Order: sequence, then structure tokens, then C-alpha cells
Amino acid sequence: MKPLSRRTAGFTDSVIRRMTRISNQYGAVNLSQGFPDFDPPQAILDRLAEVSREDFHQYSITWGAQNLREALAEKQGRFMGRPIDPNLEVVVTCGSTEAMMAAMMTAVDPGDKVIVFSPFYENYGADTILSGAEPVYVPLAPPDFHFDPEVLEDAFRQGAKALILCNPSNPCGRVFTREELLCIASLAEKYDAYVITDEVYEHIVYAPHAHTYFAALPGMWERTISCSSLSKTYSITGWRLGYTIAPPEVTERIKKVHDFLTVGAAAPLQEAVVPALRFGPGYYRDLLEKYTRKRGLFLKGLDDLGIVHTEPEGAYYVLLDISEFGFDDDLEFCEVLARDVGVGAVPGSSFFREPVRHLIRLHFAKRDETLCGALNRLEDMRKKIPARR
Ligand code: GLN
Repeated sequence: MKPLSRRTAGFTDSVIRRMTRISNQYGAVNLSQGFPDFDPPQAILDRLAEVSREDFHQYSITWGAQNLREALAEKQGRFMGRPIDPNLEVVVTCGSTEAMMAAMMTAVDPGDKVIVFSPFYENYGADTILSGAEPVYVPLAPPDFHFDPEVLEDAFRQGAKALILCNPSNPCGRVFTREELLCIASLAEKYDAYVITDEVYEHIVYAPHAHTYFAALPGMWERTISCSSLSKTYSITGWRLGYTIAPPEVTERIKKVHDFLTVGAAAPLQEAVVPALRFGPGYYRDLLEKYTRKRGLFLKGLDDLGIVHTEPEGAYYVLLDISEFGFDDDLEFCEVLARDVGVGAVPGSSFFREPVRHLIRLHFAKRDETLCGALNRLEDMRKKIPARR
């Protein structure tokens, strides 16, 4: 038999998703793959039940059901502060995973360079490989995860066609300041590059930080493909609903890529989610209040245990410093943690380009009981995982 494709030969499975399987195997409290264990809003569950009896069982329009695109354009327009055309500027995708892939396929050719901040959400690595792009990594150095503008400009100087911007950032929890974003914007303009955003945590930004939509910065609308999803905002990660927002000429191309990749997102789910897009500002306030409380509960629990960790400005991930355990291999540490302590985490090395082996990622998008259960188990961590020194 001939070998399978060279392009995909170097793929590993997703470590995030692997850690969910390992957590399940050991009955661990799974704080690895980021998804909630609480219910989505009742309004969309009720609508979902109705939709099963209505006529939504065949393909919807490939780039998204008309009423969903209209609701999305209206809602995002409100938050982004500019009118968005539901017909010319929005594509509904199968999660932001597909949105990002379609954006990459739209913007870059094989051999093009794409700037990726490190640490980064692991799908971006696969996206660059599948689109044939060559990643140029720019470090966000721990503990404060700021980038060096000189290093960033060097990356642009290498001829980057696009930059991937995850804001709020998974896994480091940074919410980039307006000044940082303006710096990226001026370089994108100077070196004529596209910016592909991943803004799935746009509504999970802790005070006093605030989310700035990159596309809303002066001059950036034309060169930005904004990718986001309904997964995190409405606690429906399994519905696989995401979208791109971009200017008409770009969207025209994304529509075609998306059509050939997946034809479309699930029609009944597109219909069922529409009431959520019509929620008023109170919904987003409550969501943020809920996550702010969970953040407080979880970080205080970690502090009480004397575990050094990051202070997320946005999203729902926290990086824990495991240096004291003396493990060379953070994946092995996570396996031992799941097996012997009963808590699922993601090894930091799966996010970093640099050889970082002393961080693990946990998330707090869980019911308070689940978080307290995990904290209880972590209390025994030092007893159950003897330091290797
Ligand atoms: N974005 C979430 C995380 O980083 C879920 C990833 C996934 O498996 N799609 O954990």
C-alpha cells in the first residue's frame, strides 16, 4: 500500500480531547476539555423540542439559515458597533473550528507564512498544516503573556500573509488591551496581512478588562476575518454552531470553502438557537456574573491549596505551575493526576511552541459542586503525587 498523505502524517490526536477520554477512563472530574456541565438557556431547549416537529430536517441554505444569519448580524452588530449585512458578511459554520479552517483556506496558499502567538489553542497547528501554511510563532511569555512588539514585527517582516489572534486567549487567559491590538493592527496594515480572529470567549471577560473586537479597530474591517461561535456564549458546545464575519468579497470566498467542506451546519440546531441571539443585555451580564463567581471560587480554592496559577483576564482557563513535582513530562503528570488524584487537566506543552513543561491547564466552566469536588481532590495532590527529586 502507498503511504497515506504526507500532509497529515505528523498529526497527533488532539491532546485536549485525549485528556477527556483519559478522565472518563479513570472517573476523574474532567476539567480538561473546556465545556460546561450546566444546562443551556431554557428558551433554546424549548425551541429545540418544537423544531423536531417542524420542517427543519433538510439542508438549510449552505451559508446559514436566513433567520439565524439575520439574528446573528443584528446581535454581533450591536456588540461590534457596526452594521453587519446578514446576506453578504456572515457565514454559519460547524463550530468556530470550521470557521477558522475555512478562514485559513480562504486567506492563505500552501507555503504562505501565518503568525501564531504561542501558547496557542492546538487546532491552529492543524489548521496551518491542512492549509499548507507555515506557522511563524511569536511568544506570549509567561507569567504575564505579553508579546514583544519587536519580535512581532520581525515575524511580519518574514512576509506573513495572516495572523491568528485568539482574544480572549485560550489557554493563557489574556484579554489584549486596545493598545496591544492597535500595535497588531498597525503592523497588519504596514505589512498588508490578514487577521483571523478567534473570539469565542468574547462574552467572558472579567472586570476591569474589556473586549475589543479587532474588526472594529480603525481600518481593520477590510483585513479581518472574525471567527466566533455560539458554543461558549450559550453553553452548547455539542451543537457545533460557529460563524465568520468578514467583508463581502472575503465572505463570498468563505461561503464557497465552507460549502465544499461541510455543506452546512445542522438545520434543526440553527433554527433552535435563534431565540438566544435575541436575548437582551441581561443575558450577557448574567453569564459574565456566573463566570466571575466561578473564577473567584476556583482561584480561591487553588490559593488555599498554595498552588501557583495564572489570573485569567478572560475565558475560563487557568494554568497551574507544577514545577514542585519535578516531572519532566507534563503529559505523564496529567495522566497521573487523572488516575491518582481524579482530576482531568491538559498538559501545557500541547499549547506552547517553546519547551514549556511546568504548566497544566484546568478550566472552571463547571457547576460549583463539580468545582468544589475537584478542589477537594486536589487537596491530596501532594500526598498522592510524590515529587520526583
Ligand atoms: N476550546 C475548548 C478547549 O480548549 C474545547 C476544545 C475542543 O475540544 N473543541 O478545551
